[in-house]
Amino acid sequence: MIQPQQHTGSYYAATVNQVTDYAPLRGAQNADVCVIGAGFTGISTALHLAERGYRVHVVEANRIGWGASGRNGGQIIDGVSGEKKIAKRLGQDGERIMWEMAWAGHDIIRERVETYAIDCDLKWGYLDVAIKKRHIRAQIDDFEALEKYNFPHEYKLLSKEETVSLIGTEAYIGALMNMGNGHLHPLNLCIGEAMAAVSLGATVYEQSPVLRIEHGAKPCVITEQGSVTADFVVIAGNAYHFIEPKLRGKMFPVNSFIIATEPLTEDQVNSINPKDLAVCDPNFVLEYFRLSADKRLLFGGRCNYSGSDPEIIKRTLVPKMLRIYPRLAKIKIDYAWGGTIGVPINRVPQLGRISSNVFFSQGYSGHGVNVTHLAGQIMADTVAGTFERFDMFANIKPIVIPGAHTFRNQMVALGVLYYKIKDRL
Ligand SMILES: Cc1cc2nc3c(=O)[nH]c(=O)nc-3n(C[C@H](O)[C@H](O)[C@H](O)COP(=O)(O)OP(=O)(O)OC[C@H]3O[C@@H](n4cnc5c(N)ncnc54)[C@H](O)[C@@H]3O)c2cc1C
Repeated sequence: MIQPQQHTGSYYAATVNQVTDYAPLRGAQNADVCVIGAGFTGISTALHLAERGYRVHVVEANRIGWGASGRNGGQIIDGVSGEKKIAKRLGQDGERIMWEMAWAGHDIIRERVETYAIDCDLKWGYLDVAIKKRHIRAQIDDFEALEKYNFPHEYKLLSKEETVSLIGTEAYIGALMNMGNGHLHPLNLCIGEAMAAVSLGATVYEQSPVLRIEHGAKPCVITEQGSVTADFVVIAGNAYHFIEPKLRGKMFPVNSFIIATEPLTEDQVNSINPKDLAVCDPNFVLEYFRLSADKRLLFGGRCNYSGSDPEIIKRTLVPKMLRIYPRLAKIKIDYAWGGTIGVPINRVPQLGRISSNVFFSQGYSGHGVNVTHLAGQIMADTVAGTFERFDMFANIKPIVIPGAHTFRNQMVALGVLYYKIKDRL
């Protein structure tokens, strides 16, 4: 039997607005749509569908936001990984279509936070920092795209000196500031959106691992104590998914970890991030950081580790943080946690179908906060019979990694190694 789990000891779990306790799935239930997984993909899909009047049931193995959605860096970053590959296939209008999709999740988040009054510390402002000259060249391309599409928010290319004066570290050689990206408390957003879906008639079952799907004219989702028979099923388990054999081996499971310091003093805040920007470097094996609402430094990065021991996470991440901010040497670390990201080899998010009425959406790499919100809208469109944007992704065949499911931990290590090598190139 699969044991459901509670939230990890993350800063987010410790500062959640509301601890959820939805009853497990019991007995035989019916719905228009059954969604498996209550992360951003599943909850966003459910909310889009509930807004359109569908009867949606969400079945979650653990708790709402238990997976990557409730543990991540909280950075709302534009872009759909692999967008150039998709744009190429779409022909003349491809670049513009992908540009619009790259920002669509932001609008959905902004609108939902307002409409449903979700208290999730949403802040706008982001710094894409450069480590190598080729990163600067990429930032110039991004800057030109912002110009070309008349980007409505403030943005600016920063010299090394300007970067140092903004975030108090010599670690970067320049940056692109973009006030259209931002950051938030992801677990509070996920739970807030789930509660909005419930207020519109959706049903959420927690602590209910799905054991299998019985496919057919009306697919049936089976758990230990119950089932949901629906017209459509949407699988939204991402890197934590473990049921559908056809989805195995389609992504590298890459672990990322975060530490949260004790709250910083006003002087410390002013010396490292007075404008409260989210900061992310461009490496595949990347580092990212920002301040929380109560002024802790949340510092994230990857390491070659597949466990969840906070002491090991601290030991790995503190030196990385101190390389950026040596002045924080005496700071106490209050929280350390990690989670798993699904990274497709070709980096293109995987939206597809297993049968005519069972769909899936997964594999957003490090851009999931934004893209999951777009994905949820696309999945809802698909259920409603509009396949246009779904097919843009579904027509790109994923590269399958043999043995990825059986050798999960080894794949985590291999995945990190693969991307470390790419960063050195
Ligand atoms: C440490 C970390 C930092 C990150 N930082 C950022 C960032 O700053 N910005 C950004 O854009 N992205 C970031 N990401 C990536 C982002 O969090 C993910 O892309 C996104 O949250 C994926 O959402 P999801 O709903 O698809 O998957 P998840 O949030 O992982 O949710 C999947 C859910 O499905 C459930 N599930 C799986 N199998 C079953 C089953 N059989 N039955 C029932 N339920 C099941 C799981 O329990 C889980 O709750 C980060 C990820 C991590 C781990």
